Amino acid sequence: MRTNNLMLRVALLVCIMLLLLGSALAAETDDFTFSLNGDGTAYAVTGYTGSASSVTVPDWYEGLPVTAIGDGAFQGNTAITSVSLPSSITRIGASAFKGCTSLKTVSSYTAASEPPVVDTRVPGDVNDDGSVNMRDALALLKKLADWDVTINESNSDVNADGTVNMRDALTLLKFLADWDVVLK
Ligand code: CA
Ligand code: CA
Repeated sequence: MRTNNLMLRVALLVCIMLLLLGSALAAETDDFTFSLNGDGTAYAVTGYTGSASSVTVPDWYEGLPVTAIGDGAFQGNTAITSVSLPSSITRIGASAFKGCTSLKTVSSYTAASEPPVVDTRVPGDVNDDGSVNMRDALALLKKLADWDVTINESNSDVNADGTVNMRDALTLLKFLADWDVVLK
């Protein structure tokens, strides 16, 4: 029994490590440098500062499509083994992948037709002022008592069950009282 338990723990640990690895490999726009084109309608990737071996070039950056790989953007990067380019790319600059001696695979993926929605939601920020504090709990309690206050409904649904009610207010109060609760 003891051995089984240990194996289970090891399996669980491996799963967690794989998950962490997976998220580390995901495309991060932070790892790229971009330049805006002349008419301000699209971006080109001009460099890559990350250390991943498998690189996915983002399809959108700051609300505009990424349509080009700039000259020498990945030049001399010997860590990269595969690159996935969005279908929005129409131009690859000179020497963009020159000296990428480990690069074996260049694939493409279908670019999204719309820029990704940036999630600006702040769970618990009922009054939408950027921070979570007792004012938010009070605003929510007032709202629930039918006072004439405006609340950010999305931020107020802190247990993420789709409705704003007293459970959310209680969760928020617990959070503010340093109970071990997580605002969703
Ligand atoms: Ca607030
Ligand atoms: Ca709720």
